[in-house]
Amino acid sequence: MSAWQYAIGLGLALASLGAVVITPFFLTHARTEHDHGPGCWWCHPRLPRRRQSR
Ligand SMILES: [Zn+2]
Repeated sequence: MSAWQYAIGLGLALASLGAVVITPFFLTHARTEHDHGPGCWWCHPRLPRRRQSR
């Protein structure tokens, strides 16, 4: 089943790549001490496509 191995490898590669990409951003954001306000989607994660769509 080389196809499964390829799919799993590709998934792991994408996951590791995504983690590598967001880690610096996460650390940088975590170090900032000022309040980002309710508009910050990172401090206040909210799913898109909610009832209130502006
Ligand atoms: Zn924030």
